[in-house]
Amino acid sequence: MKTVLITGAAGFLGSHLCDRFIKEGYKVIGMDNLITGDLKNIEHLFPLEQFEFCNHDVSNYVHVADELDYILHFASPASPIDYLKIPIQTLKVGSLGTHNLLGLAKAKNARMLIASTSEVYGDPTVHPQTEEYWGNVNPVGPRGVYDEAKRFQEAMTMAYHTYHGLETRIIRIFNTYGPRMRLNDGRVLPAFIGQALRGEDLTVFGNGKQTRSFCYVDDLVEGIYRLLHSDYTQPMNIGNPDEITIGEFAEEIIKLTGTTQKVIYQPLPVDDPMQRQPNIDKARSIIKWEPKVNRAEGLKITYEYFKSLPEQELYKKEHKEFDKYIK
Ligand code: UDP
Repeated sequence: MKTVLITGAAGFLGSHLCDRFIKEGYKVIGMDNLITGDLKNIEHLFPLEQFEFCNHDVSNYVHVADELDYILHFASPASPIDYLKIPIQTLKVGSLGTHNLLGLAKAKNARMLIASTSEVYGDPTVHPQTEEYWGNVNPVGPRGVYDEAKRFQEAMTMAYHTYHGLETRIIRIFNTYGPRMRLNDGRVLPAFIGQALRGEDLTVFGNGKQTRSFCYVDDLVEGIYRLLHSDYTQPMNIGNPDEITIGEFAEEIIKLTGTTQKVIYQPLPVDDPMQRQPNIDKARSIIKWEPKVNRAEGLKITYEYFKSLPEQELYKKEHKEFDKYIK
């Protein structure tokens, strides 16, 4: 049985990856410090012998006794609100955390895949974004702590590949959605659905003309699985190229939920990218991947998930009291 270490295991993407690798017959070691993750996302795996959980902050030295075949580094705050609240932790997990895990991968002779992001392109001046584009990032803006940590992460990973011959894979993830997103993390989809379920108006930031391209989580996980098992070592975009303005997206959520509320406009956050759409030619040709779930289907499943949560979840201002976890 092959063994995979998944960091950020209790988070949105990490928990779906745990499910997938369990299904494929791997032994999965899930690691998370639970600052933004939630054990509820993986509690169904606890009875399984194939699964182990380790509560640890990977920004500190990481010890794993088992032999490892793969390491998937998915630990990081991943919403603009989180970066503002826990900027230093965001920087550390992308940089120090990545370094620790690369060291572990080298010691175990494991293949390491890192979760990079479309944020490495910043507010892009090239559209759609190809992997060759170097980006337009403000290092000292509010998103800089995430963007620069992820850019450093890519550089560090490539250096381990080049200088130590480590097997590495780099995925650039575009906006992804699905069940287990945090309802109150400030990201646009949980924000709109939460507002609709509470009977509040939907808050569109700016004029709503900025675009995003949303990928359903199962599609993303399939892309990760394929990239990991390919021999491609350069960064690869994985996302759904179906681009939509945030204003149109709000209208879709209004239709989906049947809410009688309206859209209200609020100021655009600093450095909010105006356009984002992945070019996925490389994923199509190299790993034969493209998204299969269209937005209507994916949104329906996600809406059912949010509706099934206990009502008090809707009114929690914060999912977590960050302060008590931060030393
Ligand atoms: N957004 C919005 N209303 C909200 C939350 C977000 O209009 O209540 C906008 C936000 O300004 C951005 C887009 O939705 O243009 C996506 O935001 P999100 O935080 O989900 O992701 P990111 O900006 O990192 O792509």
